[in-house]
Amino acid sequence: MYLYNSATHKKELFTTHTPDHVEMYTCGPTVYHFAHIGNLRSYIMEDVLEKYLRFAGYDVNRVMNITDVGHLTSDADEGEDKMLKGARREHKTVMEIAQYYTDAFFADCRKLNIKTPDVVQPATGLIDDYIHIVETLLNKGFAYVAGGNVYFDTGKLPRYYVFNDHKEEDLAVGVREGVEEDTNKRSKNDFVLWFTKSKFEDQALKWDSPWGVGYPGWHIECSGISMKYNGEYLDLHCGGVDNAFPHHTNEIAQSESYLGHPWCTHWCHVAHLNTTDGKMSKSKGEFLTVSLLEEKGYDPIAYRFFCLQSHYRKNLVFTWENLDNAVAAYDKLLARLSSVDPEDGAVDEAAAAALTEPFRAAMDNDLNTPNAVTALYGVLKATANGATKWAAIEAMDSVLGIKLAEKAAAKRAKQAETAGAADGFFVVCEDGEKSAQIEDLLRRRAEAKKSRDFAEADRIRDALKEQGVEITDMSGGVKWRRV
Ligand SMILES: [Zn+2]
Repeated sequence: MYLYNSATHKKELFTTHTPDHVEMYTCGPTVYHFAHIGNLRSYIMEDVLEKYLRFAGYDVNRVMNITDVGHLTSDADEGEDKMLKGARREHKTVMEIAQYYTDAFFADCRKLNIKTPDVVQPATGLIDDYIHIVETLLNKGFAYVAGGNVYFDTGKLPRYYVFNDHKEEDLAVGVREGVEEDTNKRSKNDFVLWFTKSKFEDQALKWDSPWGVGYPGWHIECSGISMKYNGEYLDLHCGGVDNAFPHHTNEIAQSESYLGHPWCTHWCHVAHLNTTDGKMSKSKGEFLTVSLLEEKGYDPIAYRFFCLQSHYRKNLVFTWENLDNAVAAYDKLLARLSSVDPEDGAVDEAAAAALTEPFRAAMDNDLNTPNAVTALYGVLKATANGATKWAAIEAMDSVLGIKLAEKAAAKRAKQAETAGAADGFFVVCEDGEKSAQIEDLLRRRAEAKKSRDFAEADRIRDALKEQGVEITDMSGGVKWRRV
C-alpha cells in the first residue's frame, strides 16, 4: 500500500518494523465538550485506514489516548484550560466532565460505525510513566527546569521541524498569537513537560513529582501512552492536520530524545472539514455534532459516506446542501444494492475476489476512498450472480463501514412490504425512482403473463423499451431501470 507520509512529504510504500504487524497510534479527543463533526471526520478516516490495513492482511495494534487532564489552548502556561472551562460551564468536577464526554465521544463513534481502538488510555492513568520520561530527558540534557516548570530544550536538537518548513517569523505568530511571552523559555519553541507553577491556581488535577506538585504538559501523554502500549517503534501515527504542529512535532522531539533512536516512521494527517467561512470549530457558528445531524433527520452513516466521497488529504467543505447530495447518492446506491438478491446462486470466491480488485487498487493508492466508493458501482454492473456480488460488496464494506448489507436488506424488506402488499408481486426501480406509469405497465404485463397473453406481455415490454426502460424479471416481481 502506498500512503502519503507527512514526515517525508511524499507518497511512500507503507512498511512496518515487524512484518505483517502494524503498531498504530491515534491522538484521541480532549473530553471537555462534544466532538464536532469536523473532529469526527479524522476518526472516520483513521477507522477506514485501520480497517483497510486489517483487510490487507496486517495484524494491527491500535492505541488512542483520551485527554482528560487539564490542557491549555496553547503550548505554554497560557490560554484557557479546556477541561476546567468545561467543568465551570456545567458545574461539574473535571473528572465528571471527562467521563461524560468520553462516553459521548464513543457513543458518536458507534453511530458512525467507528471501531474502538484496541487500547484506549486516559492520560491521567499513566502519570508515573510521564514523570519517568521527563526525568530521563533531564538526565540526558534535553530538558531544563526554569521558574518551577520543566521545559524541553529544542535547541539541543539537530532538527526540530519535521512536517513544515516554518519561517521563524510565521512561527512566532502561530505560537504566540494573543498570548504573552513565557520568559522561562530559552527558545520560543521550547515546551513544557511538567508544570508546577501554573497560572491556574485552581487546577483540579495535580500529582506529586520530583519537581513539586503539578501536572504534565500537553504533549507528553501521547509519547508516554504510545511507548507503553505500542513499544519503542511506532509504524503509524495519525491525527488531524492541526496536530502536526506543535503537538506531533513536540511528540517526536521528546520521544526520540528519550529513546535515542527514530521513533515513528509514518505520519498520516487528515485535512480539515471546513464550513463556507473557514475551518469548523466549536466556538463559531452552529456547533455541528452527530446529535444535531440526527435531530435534523440525517443518518450518521450518511455523514460517513459524505466523508468517504472526499480524499482524506483534501479539505472538505460542509454545507447542508453538500450533505443532502451525499444522502441522495447513498440512497441511490442502497436502492441499486437492494435489487441485487444475496440468495441468487452460490458465491464464486475467485470471482468475488476479482470484483474487489479495483477497490484494493484505489485504497492502495493513498487511501483513495472516492475511487473505492466508485468501485462499488463497478460490482453492481459486473456479470456475476447476486451471491457473488454481495460477497465482494460485503468485503469492501468491512473497510468502508457504511452498513450496505444491513441497509439494503431493510430497503428490500420495505419494498417487498409496500410494493407487494396487494398481490405479492413487487415492482422496484434499481435507482430508487418512483413512477406510477411504469409500475402500472409492469403490473399489467405480469397480469398478461399470468393469463398466458404473451403477445400483450411482449407489447408492454417493447413499449417500455421505447421509453428507455430496461426490465429484469425476478422471482416474485420485476425490477427496472432507465438505460
Ligand atoms: Zn497526541
